[in-house]
Amino acid sequence: MIKTDILIIGAGPTGLFTVFEAGLLKLKCHLIDALAQPGGQCSEIYPKKPIYDIPGFPEILAGDLTKNLLEQGKQFEPGFTLGERAETIEKLEDGSFIVTTNKGTKHHAPVVAIAGGLGSFEPRKPIIDNLEFYEDKGVEYMIKDPEVYRDKKVVISGGGDSALDWSIFLANIASEVTLVHRRNEFRGALDSVEKVKELKHLGKINLITPAEVTAIHGDLNVEAVTIQKDDENIRLETDHFIPLFGLSPKLGPISDWGLEIEKNAIKVDTLDYQTNIPGVFAIGDVNTYEGKLKLILCGFHEATLMCQSAYKIINPGKKYVLKYTTVSGVDGFDGTRKEAPKAVVQAID
Ligand SMILES: Cc1cc2nc3c(=O)[nH]c(=O)nc-3n(C[C@H](O)[C@H](O)[C@H](O)COP(=O)(O)OP(=O)(O)OC[C@H]3O[C@@H](n4cnc5c(N)ncnc54)[C@H](O)[C@@H]3O)c2cc1C
Repeated sequence: MIKTDILIIGAGPTGLFTVFEAGLLKLKCHLIDALAQPGGQCSEIYPKKPIYDIPGFPEILAGDLTKNLLEQGKQFEPGFTLGERAETIEKLEDGSFIVTTNKGTKHHAPVVAIAGGLGSFEPRKPIIDNLEFYEDKGVEYMIKDPEVYRDKKVVISGGGDSALDWSIFLANIASEVTLVHRRNEFRGALDSVEKVKELKHLGKINLITPAEVTAIHGDLNVEAVTIQKDDENIRLETDHFIPLFGLSPKLGPISDWGLEIEKNAIKVDTLDYQTNIPGVFAIGDVNTYEGKLKLILCGFHEATLMCQSAYKIINPGKKYVLKYTTVSGVDGFDGTRKEAPKAVVQAID
């Protein structure tokens, strides 16, 4: 059982900034995300696009914003459960919650902050018989740890950035990489397409287009796939089949938690973004209220106010006096201390 003060569902920009604001109040956070990496939409959809409306940053790449948020929160030592979807919530008699993921990981916290954005990103799956049987037995829809593929044969299918980027990355790790796409044209960054072309000519990527994987074979695990190219069926031995056809967001299991939902978003009050379940907050893109704007800076604001109420729930009767970080400094849970240089009182002769 993972125990924490604030359990955050969703490691997008809103969830990541919550770690910092909670840390200032000496509250510890743990984040669950269905994706293999933190950053939410910023890292999954548009890591290389510049954002122009983050206060204080005239221009910042979405990927760099994620890096900065992780760096800012690092001192408060957040925990992460990545690649798992928060599935169920149970309220205990003392008012605290147990949230369990689809992989059975249990988390216990007095406060839950849902920062689930558009919902958990679910992989778009190809239509292949027995596909589900091979999931986690050689079929993966996202790459969590590239080392799993060291010296293994890998078939990747897809025609976007993920398929291109992972084919390039795994070309130096796997013993054999085959990229299958149903068109001859790829829809990705020009330099990635060029790199795949180069690796194909070097014999490091086996490119099969226009083609589709139509069947998977193997008694217990993936052992081979059938690739249909024109009218020909090619059987190819492989250890892994990784379809990378993109992810589509779904509010998913959270919609069955008894929360008030309006137009696929969670209704909250505008005092502290609490839901109809006391102790459960919803912040960032996932919530709705009159005048709501789905912007990163609004998520940051909501996270900040939510943490104040979380503090009161976790420390009943205790009063928190807001201090500027320039005045109080920042004490990390890792023993670090950041503070502005102190003024000196000294006579000048
Ligand atoms: C192309 C594009 C450009 C944009 N440009 C801008 C811009 O210029 N400025 C701006 O302010 N905003 C912009 N946005 C919007 C901005 O990205 C969102 O407002 C922001 O990402 C919301 O952050 P969030 O943390 O609330 O949610 P998200 O970033 O959506 O993160 C939510 C996370 O929660 C996870 N999750 C959800 N449900 C579960 C569950 N049950 N279990 C586990 N994990 C779960 C998801 O996997 C996801 O990682 C843009 C969006 C897009 C798509």
